[in-house]
Amino acid sequence: MRERAQLVYDFADGDRSQTDLLGGKGANLAEMTRLGLPVPPGFTITTEACRHYLDRGEEPQSLRVQVTMALRRLEDGLGRRLGDIQDPLLVSVRSGAKVSMPGMMETVLNVGLNDYSVKGLAEAAKDERFAWDSYRRLIQMFGRTVLDIPSERFEDRLDAVKTREGATTDVELSPAALQGLVEDFKDIVSDATGRDFPQDPREQLDMAMRAVFDSWNTDRARIYRRRERIPHDLGTAVNICAMVFGNMGEDSGTGVCFTRDPATGKQGVYGDYLVNAQGEDVVAGIRNTLSLEDFARLDPASHAELTRIMRRLETHYRDLCDIEFTVERGKLWMLQTRVGKRTAGAAFRIATQLVDEQVITRDEALTRVTGHQLAQLMFPQFDADAPRTLLTKAMAASPGAAVGEVVFDSATAVARAAEGRRVLLVRRETNPDDLEGMIAATGVLTSRGGKTSHAAVVARGMGRTCVCGAEEIDVDAEAKVLRVNGTTIAEGELLSIDGSTGEVFAGELPVVPSPVVTYLERGLDAALEGVDEEAADLVRAVDRLLRHADRTRRLAVRANADNAEDATRARSLGAQGIGLCRTEHMFLGDRRVLIERLILAEDPPARDAALAELLPLQRADFVELLTAMDGLPTTIRLLDPPLHEFLPDRTELAVKVAVAKATGDGVSADDERLLAAVERLHEANPMLGRRGVRLGLLVPGLYGMQVRAITEAAAERALAGGDPRVEIMVPLVGSVMELHLIRDEIDGIVADVQAAAGVDLDIPIGTMIELPRAALTARRIAESAEFFSFGTNDLTQTTWGFSRDDVEAAIFAAYLEKGVFTVSPFESLDRDGVGALIRTAVEKGRETRPGIKLGVCGEHGGDPDSVHFFHYAGVDYVSCSPFRVPVARLEAGRAAL
Ligand code: PEP
Ligand code: MG
Repeated sequence: MRERAQLVYDFADGDRSQTDLLGGKGANLAEMTRLGLPVPPGFTITTEACRHYLDRGEEPQSLRVQVTMALRRLEDGLGRRLGDIQDPLLVSVRSGAKVSMPGMMETVLNVGLNDYSVKGLAEAAKDERFAWDSYRRLIQMFGRTVLDIPSERFEDRLDAVKTREGATTDVELSPAALQGLVEDFKDIVSDATGRDFPQDPREQLDMAMRAVFDSWNTDRARIYRRRERIPHDLGTAVNICAMVFGNMGEDSGTGVCFTRDPATGKQGVYGDYLVNAQGEDVVAGIRNTLSLEDFARLDPASHAELTRIMRRLETHYRDLCDIEFTVERGKLWMLQTRVGKRTAGAAFRIATQLVDEQVITRDEALTRVTGHQLAQLMFPQFDADAPRTLLTKAMAASPGAAVGEVVFDSATAVARAAEGRRVLLVRRETNPDDLEGMIAATGVLTSRGGKTSHAAVVARGMGRTCVCGAEEIDVDAEAKVLRVNGTTIAEGELLSIDGSTGEVFAGELPVVPSPVVTYLERGLDAALEGVDEEAADLVRAVDRLLRHADRTRRLAVRANADNAEDATRARSLGAQGIGLCRTEHMFLGDRRVLIERLILAEDPPARDAALAELLPLQRADFVELLTAMDGLPTTIRLLDPPLHEFLPDRTELAVKVAVAKATGDGVSADDERLLAAVERLHEANPMLGRRGVRLGLLVPGLYGMQVRAITEAAAERALAGGDPRVEIMVPLVGSVMELHLIRDEIDGIVADVQAAAGVDLDIPIGTMIELPRAALTARRIAESAEFFSFGTNDLTQTTWGFSRDDVEAAIFAAYLEKGVFTVSPFESLDRDGVGALIRTAVEKGRETRPGIKLGVCGEHGGDPDSVHFFHYAGVDYVSCSPFRVPVARLEAGRAAL
C-alpha cells in the first residue's frame, strides 16, 4: 500500500523548526501551542500540499480526507461544528510562507457563516450587530480574495450605507443596516460571478484554501520574491484556525505588538490596539488605534497577561518578537508571533541589548546584524516623513541620498561646485573624463550602464551617491535638459536621488546625516559629541559589534584606493592595506595629454621623452600613497585600461577632420596624425583587447617607467625612515609566459633602483587572476607570481562572456525576471561558475607556492554574500571600496562564526 504523506498538522503537533513544511506562521502557532500559550486551536496544511496543487493544478488526493479529519478533531475539541445553525464554529484561513511576505498573500476570516449560521452566531453571542458584521466581512473578504471581485465594489457600498445611516465608522452601523449590507454584498457576488455566495461551509473552506494557494503566484507576490531574493518554488502553507472575535463589543479588540521597538530598537514593549475590531482593521488603518498604555487602562487583566507572554516569547526566541493578538470579551488570544523584522539601526541596538541582558552571546549578536544593514546606516538618508514626487526608479548603484542642481557636463559641475553649489551630474554614461565632475558632484545619475559601469564603480569608490541605468530618462546634454515620463528638467533645477533604492525625485528632499560614519572615520568620542541618546546608543552598538567582528575574522580587509586621500580614508575606516591601486586613474585630467604623447610617439626618443615626463609625476603619486599607507601592504597595479580611452573620441575627431577638409579650412597635421593613431588603436571589443599585461608587452618602457617610479618612491620613503610595504601587480595575465616576459623587464629595474639608492626593499611581484585561463593554469602562473589577487569583475565578465559595461541594462532585467539568476553576477559572486575557478586557482597556486598570498580586489570583495564565499574559499584578504571596508570587516567576522 502506498504510504500517505502527512499534509495536515494540528497546531499541537508541530514546532518552530518546521518552517519549511508549516510556513513561518504555522510553525510559530505550533510553538506557542506547545508553550501552553492561549492559541485558538487549529491546523496547518503544508507547503508540500501547496506545491503539489500549484504544479498539477489539483490538490493531492488525500488532502480532502486529511482536512476532514483535522476539522473533526477541531470540532470535537471545541464541541461546536463548522457553520452549525446553533453556536457555529467559524474559522480563519490564512496564508503563511516559510519567509514572511507581508501583505502579499491572502486571508479569509469568518469562514462558516451563511444565512442560517449567522442567526446561530447572533444567538450564541447574544449580539445581532456582531453576527451581521461578521457575515458582511466574510462576504467582502471572500468576494475580494477568492472570487476576485474588485474591493471597491464592496467598499463603495459600505460607504454609501454609512452615509445613509449618518455613521462615520462601521462600528456605528445598526444590526439592520448590516443585515441590509449582507444582502447587498450577496447581490454584488451574484452579479460579478453569476453564482450565489456559497452557503456550504466546507465549500467556503476549500475555496478559501485554494485561493491562498493561488495567491502564491500573484504578480505582486512574484515581484516581492524577486526583490527579496526568495525562491519561487517554496509555496505557502495554509493555517485554519478557530475564530476568536475582537469585534464582540467594547470588551473585545485586536492588536499588534512588539517586544521592543522595531524602528529604533528602544527597550520596552510597543504596540497598537483597536477596540471592537478584527485583525484587518488595524493594518488597514481604518480607525485610530490606542497605545498599549491605553490598553492597560482599558483591560488591565488582558494587558498583564500580554506583558507576561511577551516576556515569555522573548525568552523563548531570544530575540525581538512581533505578536498579533485578539481579546474576545476579556479573554486574550495569541494569533501569531514571529521573530520580528526591524530597521538596520534597531538590529544593532537590539543585538547588543540582548548581550547585555545575557540572553545571547557576542557571537550570536554578530549573527543578528548584516553588512547590508551596516551599509544602510552609513549613508545619509532622505527624511522618511518628507513628501516626495517620484520621477523614475533605476539601479541603486552607490548608496546615499544626494540633492543637487542638475548639470550635464563635468566642467559645469566643477565650476558650480567651486561656487559652493551642490550639483548632480547627469550623463548618459560617464567615462574617465567625467571624474572631476563626479568628484565635484554630490551624486551621479546616468541613463545607461549597470552596477559595474564606470559611473557605478567610480562613484562607489568615492562614496558618491549614484543611480545608474535610468532608461526612462532621456538625457539631452546639448539642450541641457532631461526628460522623464512627461516631465522636463532643465540645467540648474533640483533633483534628489536615492542611491540605496535607485529612486529619482523631483526637487529637494531633506537629508539626515549618519553618525555611524563619523564614528567609523573619527572614532567613538567624536561620534558621541552632540548626538541624541538614540544615535549614541546606535553608534556604541556598531562599535561593539564591529570590534567583535575584528576579533573573530580570519580574512584581512584592504581597500581599493588610487590616491593618498582615499587611502587615508580607507585606513581610518579600518583597511589593513591597499589591495588595488588602479594606476590608470592617475592619468586623468591634465595628465591625459602625456599619455597621448606616449601613444603617438613615432620613434624611441619621442617615446622616452614622454616617459621621462611621466616618471616624476608617478613617483610623487606613489610617495604620497606610501606615506599614507606607511607600515601597511600597498598593492599597486600596473596600467590596465585600453589605450584608446586616453585618446580623443574617434567619431568626433573624424567629423572634425572631414569638416575641415570639406570647408577647405585645411586640416591640421596634428589632427590627421591623431586620427590615424586613433583609427589604428580602435578595437571592436576593447575589454578583450590591448589591456593589462598586453599593453606592458606592446608599449616598451611603459611598465618599466611605472616600476621605476614605484621602487624609487619606496626607496625614498625607506630612506626617510618610513616603512613602505609596496607590492607590484600585473593585470590581465592569461599565461605564465606573459608574466615571465614582463618580469624580465621589471625585476631588473627593481634591483637597479635598490642598488642605486642603497636600500634593500622587499617588493613582491604578483598578478591578478581575472581570466579563466589564468585560474586554470594557476599552478604555472604561481611559478612567477609571488601573490594572486582575484579580479572578479573581469573574471565574471570573461567566465560568463558578459560585457560588464553593456549587459546589465540590456540583458539582466530579463534574466532576473526569467530567473536565470536571482542577483547580478557582477554584484554577488557566482559561486558555481566564477567561484569554481577561484577554488581551482587557490588550490593550484598553493601547490606550487604553499605560502602564496591570495586576495580579491574585484567589486565582490565588498559584497556581503561574496565575502562569506571568500572566507570559505580560503583566500587571505578581500579588498573593496573604502566605504565598504566596515561592511567587509563585519561580514568577514560573521563568516568566521
Ligand atoms: C577586476 O577585474 O576585478 C578588477 C579589480 O580590475 P578592474 O575592475 O580594474 O578591471
Ligand atoms: Mg580587471
